[in-house]
Amino acid sequence: MPAPQCASCRKARAALRRPRSGQALCGTCFCAAFEAEVLHTVVAGRLLPPGAVVAVGASGGKDSTVLAHVLRELAPRLAISLHLVAVDEGIGGYRDAALAAVRRQAARWELPLTVVAYAELFGGWTMDAVARSTAGSGRSRSCCTFCGVLRRRALEEGARRVGATHVVTGHNADDMAETVLMNFLRGDAGRLARGGGLGSPGEGGALPRCRPLQLASQKEVVLYAHFRRLDYFSEECVYAPEAFRGHARELLKLLEAARPSAVLDLVHSAERLALAPAARPPPPGACSRCGALASRALCQACALLDGLNRGRPRLAIGKGRRGLDEEGSPREPQPSGPPASEPIPGF
Ligand code: SF4
Ligand code: ZN
Repeated sequence: MPAPQCASCRKARAALRRPRSGQALCGTCFCAAFEAEVLHTVVAGRLLPPGAVVAVGASGGKDSTVLAHVLRELAPRLAISLHLVAVDEGIGGYRDAALAAVRRQAARWELPLTVVAYAELFGGWTMDAVARSTAGSGRSRSCCTFCGVLRRRALEEGARRVGATHVVTGHNADDMAETVLMNFLRGDAGRLARGGGLGSPGEGGALPRCRPLQLASQKEVVLYAHFRRLDYFSEECVYAPEAFRGHARELLKLLEAARPSAVLDLVHSAERLALAPAARPPPPGACSRCGALASRALCQACALLDGLNRGRPRLAIGKGRRGLDEEGSPREPQPSGPPASEPIPGF
């Protein structure tokens, strides 16, 4: 049976059915609709004002690749300029190849690129060194806990170096739903309360952050990358299988099979919970060491580095546990979120 006609242009044959609406579209009309929806998210949410210098957290993975490409398409209409910022966590056999993809993108799209490395920023610590340090502690899955906190800090630092006024990350609706689910599973009301909305306004001197793809499903992100023939890196981080996020992802797949709207329902539930005053954590203060936002004497990044430098990484995790992010997204730089010191998973 021949493919149906595209429901938008009514000229070309449809190449897909949109996962959410079931609408049959050709590749060109789908990509145009996808870009229009991201534009709407940015404009309606007032995420990126005209004149903004936007640091795009670029990992080489599909989400940040799609984000950078869409924003490059929209940049003239939004009157913004873009700068790719990539974080080198120091993960042998993984990040080098991903960074190569980012460099190809920057060259092809003629976008400036800055790479910041954990080793340079954090006194020689790389994620491989952190993994070795935490091995045998019974908490090896906490690699992503460390990485999430440090990457958020690294992206902020990279964005400042290039004079950015805003930071964007590629987290999509599925990432956000996983995050909400994880916070529910952990009973973390404080994080649930902070986790809604499309970004954070930049409290305490931190740069404002947002997630323009937060309402786009992962399936559509993949479809967009396919129809735009985007070159991205798709291998999973070597530490990803240990992350709790993987369990949330499996659970979400089951929920979505029973209730297709489960992903967006979870994302929107976090937005509503974010408005509940009783669930809001107390306003953060400043880290006594680096000045970043912190709900304790030290921010999460300083507390983690402190524990690592003293050879007591478990202690660092245990002390900061409630505030730490164990859900560093296995696919994307996990930065961003409200208080700079308390990253929201998936941000
Ligand atoms: Fe970092 Fe992501 Fe790898 Fe976890 S999976 S260690 S958050 S890059
Ligand atoms: Zn600090």
